[in-house]
Amino acid sequence: MAGLSEGNNLDPWYGHYAARTTGLSASEVRALFAVASRPEVVSLAGGMPFVSALPTELVTSAIDRLMRERGPVALQYGSGQGAPELREQILDVMALEGIRGSVDDVVVTTGSQHALELIAKLFLDPGDVVLAEGPSYVTALVVFRSFQAEVSHVPMDEHGLIPAALRERIAALKAAGKRLKLLYTVPTFNNPAGVTLSWERRLELLEIARENDILVLEDNPYGLLYFDGPPPHAMRSVEKDGVVYLGTFSKTLAPGFRVGWALAPHAIREKLILANEAAVLSPSSFTQLVISEYLSSADWRAQIDTFRGVYRERRDAMLSALAEYLPKLSWTIPNGGFYVWLNLPEQVDAKSMLPRAVKQLVAYTPGTAFYADGNGRNNIRLSFCYPTPEFIREGIRRLSSVITGELEL
Ligand code: PMP
Repeated sequence: MAGLSEGNNLDPWYGHYAARTTGLSASEVRALFAVASRPEVVSLAGGMPFVSALPTELVTSAIDRLMRERGPVALQYGSGQGAPELREQILDVMALEGIRGSVDDVVVTTGSQHALELIAKLFLDPGDVVLAEGPSYVTALVVFRSFQAEVSHVPMDEHGLIPAALRERIAALKAAGKRLKLLYTVPTFNNPAGVTLSWERRLELLEIARENDILVLEDNPYGLLYFDGPPPHAMRSVEKDGVVYLGTFSKTLAPGFRVGWALAPHAIREKLILANEAAVLSPSSFTQLVISEYLSSADWRAQIDTFRGVYRERRDAMLSALAEYLPKLSWTIPNGGFYVWLNLPEQVDAKSMLPRAVKQLVAYTPGTAFYADGNGRNNIRLSFCYPTPEFIREGIRRLSSVITGELEL
């Protein structure tokens, strides 16, 4: 059976891997990390949060207090659903985006990435279809592929996924006899497109999903990182039975804790807990309780404000550098999150340009990484979360010279 090592005869286990591993090729983002992390390269490629904006004393004092007061609990296995005190606090975090839920319906996971994997495991059989924005979060695509599902991308514009295109796509897929299971969406400050789904469209998508019996998977890691005023409330704020909502502390605190969560309809929640237990027994008691201490003792809302300020300045640096160095191109204007989506001239292929960009010491992620169907040739994702504003400017300057070079080829 063809699997991970298809074509790699040096692998002694070639032929033994499960069929589902066929989709598990290293993502383009991952392959980039090695090159992009060289200090002389300005990396506009990864999506690493700027954790240095979090004062380490806040974390050290939370750990210190936890170990003094509840050391044995923090070092023990915990509940497969997650620590009750943290689940209670997660409700306060979600309330900032208009969500009212029950503590019983929150399941803590090892980052929201793990929640994505668990939901896929619960719902996807080979050949099932996941509807997703085009473009869509690269590592979600890897997950869906690893369960042998098909991803059908629905186009977006500057207001997010286009409802009429979704209706059409659903009708076509149904006519072709496909089983539609999930609508996966990153509605707010989309990764990678940077756009936000309008409120009217949120309601319309929920309606379409309801009519067609499709579960909505709302992935919202960036919603609290807004720059010019808060985005529309989460879709989960108005629809409880048809939405699984995913949240995370990775961007509002730090990804190293690996703590995220799902807020699931009651019926799904039970299966999610069982799947979580099967995978990890219980999410890390230690990191959950450190976060719980942090939330109860630090001014976490002010810390989110600090992150907003840092990322707003970087977004502004990127937008003004783009306007200065690449005035003939077009790009999205994010009101939050980490990413700008750049449209290249038709004759420029983002993937084949990448080695030449790296030679000129700038890295980015080619658009094709964010499509399951080979689209995105003429797009690149630019991340402004990690480099300083000066580096972002320099990176865009280098990129403009690379693109100009391509046009002269
Ligand atoms: N969803 C989206 C859209 C993301 O951008 C990310 C992180 N890059 C994740 C999920 C996973 O985040 P984590 O596992 O750190 O919570």
